[in-house]
Amino acid sequence: MERGAAGLLLVNQPSECTVSFDRRFDELVLFNAELELLAEGFRWVEGPVWFGDHNCLLFSDIPNNRTMRWSPEHGVSVFREPSDYANGQTRDRQGRLITCHHASRCLTRLEADGTQTTMATSAHGKRLNAPNDVVVKRDGSIWFSDPLYGLLNDYEGGRQPSEQPPALYRLDPNTGAIEAMASDFDGPNGLAFSPDERKLYVAESGAPGVAEPRQYIRVFDVAADGLSLSGGEIFQKITPGWADGFRVDEHGNIWCGAADGVHCIAPDGTLIGKVLVPKRVSNLCFGDRFHSRLFLCASTALYALFTNTRGAQAP
Ligand code: MG
Repeated sequence: MERGAAGLLLVNQPSECTVSFDRRFDELVLFNAELELLAEGFRWVEGPVWFGDHNCLLFSDIPNNRTMRWSPEHGVSVFREPSDYANGQTRDRQGRLITCHHASRCLTRLEADGTQTTMATSAHGKRLNAPNDVVVKRDGSIWFSDPLYGLLNDYEGGRQPSEQPPALYRLDPNTGAIEAMASDFDGPNGLAFSPDERKLYVAESGAPGVAEPRQYIRVFDVAADGLSLSGGEIFQKITPGWADGFRVDEHGNIWCGAADGVHCIAPDGTLIGKVLVPKRVSNLCFGDRFHSRLFLCASTALYALFTNTRGAQAP
């Protein structure tokens, strides 16, 4: 690796960091944008969320029980520690940080005055498992996945018994009501709506130790009133590795973390290209001024790549 003029480590030459399988992908990437290593030395990073009003990225370093902050001006710093083993994060319609926590098995909201509100700890009278990832719909409802992963070992929050099967939930922030939207999952994980919010994509990362784990991105049809889902068929199998976190761009393409980098899947289900990353990508988000820069949480490191597309829902 060499070091660029801005002090960033250049991981690959431009022609080497993307692989195109379809001409549609060529229009989404830039010939002269390189994969940049922004920071490293973490344990397992996840949950990236862009704050344009503060020109910074927040992301979770789960095993280190801390939330990190990266900005172009100041690089990396600790945002909060301990983080209650925070994982997935997003912002609500008011711009507040919404976070999934493994250790306390809950969902929280960080208020503008810096206080933290616990939004969800249980569903149907039983404790949640370990909320993993979260997205907010335009109507303000909060959708989150609740697999067992964060309960299975001490590394990401502490081993605890489960009280209910994995599920995907919808939380009404006005009433506090939590309803299971789908529960036939071996590990619901990352999730994102299509740009028109008529479809919801959900990663199913599979149960550990199973011979043929269910490891897919599935696609659901969202009811017109936004209160239920139907369908749920397999949309894409991510290999090598499995689907974890992903985002949708303005054209409806899905950018999904995988063992070899980021896979870009067109709305019709075609794998149209890849961003090759030296480490397994767990989760990602669009950010920067135009929401056209991909920030990649990749195992122990944070990478970024400028693209020629923009995130579907710029907060
Ligand atoms: Mg996840």
